Amino acid sequence: MTQKTRKGTERQDGHCSFCGAEADEVALMFNGGNGVNICSSCIEHGYGLLVEHNIIAETKKSDSKGGKKFRPLKREDLMRPDRIKSFLDDYVIGQDTAKRYMSVAVYNHYKRLLAKGKTEDVELDKSNIVLVGPTGTGKTLMARTIARLLHVPFSIVDATALTQAGYVGEDVESILSRLLQAADYDVEAAERGIIFIDEIDKIARKGDNPSITRDVSGEGVQQALLKILEGTVVNVPPQGGRKHPDQKYIQVSTSNILFICGGAFDGIEKKIATRLNTNAIGYGATIKQRIDESNIMKYIQPQDLRSFGLIPELIGRLPVLTYMEPLEREALRSILTEPKNSIIRQYECLMGLDDIKLTFDNEVLDYIVDKALEFKLGARGLRSICEAIMMDIMFDMPTNESGEVRITLEYAKSKIDKIA
Ligand code: ADP
Repeated sequence: MTQKTRKGTERQDGHCSFCGAEADEVALMFNGGNGVNICSSCIEHGYGLLVEHNIIAETKKSDSKGGKKFRPLKREDLMRPDRIKSFLDDYVIGQDTAKRYMSVAVYNHYKRLLAKGKTEDVELDKSNIVLVGPTGTGKTLMARTIARLLHVPFSIVDATALTQAGYVGEDVESILSRLLQAADYDVEAAERGIIFIDEIDKIARKGDNPSITRDVSGEGVQQALLKILEGTVVNVPPQGGRKHPDQKYIQVSTSNILFICGGAFDGIEKKIATRLNTNAIGYGATIKQRIDESNIMKYIQPQDLRSFGLIPELIGRLPVLTYMEPLEREALRSILTEPKNSIIRQYECLMGLDDIKLTFDNEVLDYIVDKALEFKLGARGLRSICEAIMMDIMFDMPTNESGEVRITLEYAKSKIDKIA
């Protein structure tokens, strides 16, 4: 269906094969190929029928008071940075520095929204954020948790899928399509949402570009992102993908959308170290700094992103820069059990739904952490290791009559040995 939807957005001509409406009479017309079309009203009608016949559950578009899913921001919604941070603490383990930066950036962002039109002389800039750190350390989780706290639409896009207009790939404007979808096409809500752009490091400039089909150098994408990040009105293709001249667009202003960019920036430590060494011996050096070599990342500065290949204009629009720490053994162990929706709690809950009590021996949890460290996938590894251990149990779960499952080290090892 997604493919057809995309295809549909490329052709807005024809009439609905079900109700006969013309393309310009309806919000959207989907083209299913072979000259068959369906309009958005018929899809909505069909959806209603599916809900009525209990074939699918209704996705709530409105809250219990009958209002919109995302109501307008109010003064009392503004949370102090320390409260934002303690909310993050419930879901994200460690990453104290990043949490503090995020909390302040989000606080300022929403203060800026609430102050709109009230500060005459001073124009408050946006506090878009860059999170630099290895994969699986919680960048996406952090952004997602913030969005949950603020009750604003949230979407994740992958910078690697984006290309400069005219090249093969998705137009940069499609970033906003996802947010619109998350906001149930409530433009006003989308306009104060949060977009997480993952893998921002992958669009760093990499030198001369011989490709004519894709803007491999990344610079074109960076240029295209500039305006969106700063604030502009964008014509958004509702279903994403490529823009097309005949398509209907929805206008979205990005001036109040908070952008959080994340990237691993592999190898940036070397650039930071080079800068620190140069500074320490250069003319500007007055105090010889003591550099903590075990954690070079904490010295990250905007100029290091520039050495990595981000253009200065883009860096200028991402004023809040912070880093994520690699997750050590202790943090990984906590991630397994402590967060409100920790992996282990999720399995316990899943089994609980079938009235089965699930327990893990402590040594199993240590073993899972050992394996995650060995696989070097950060917290991401934890999930896949747990899946491998739990797979057969979950398969047999509906026929389990004892009402109990205990995972022992021996059992866990037998499952992991099969895949490792
Ligand atoms: P990243 O975006 O840095 O690659 P993610 O946020 O997608 O990493 O993390 C992948 C998964 O690992 C998350 O869904 C979460 O379950 C877990 N995770 C990662 N880091 C943390 C953390 N600091 N605290 C709690 N869970 C984490």
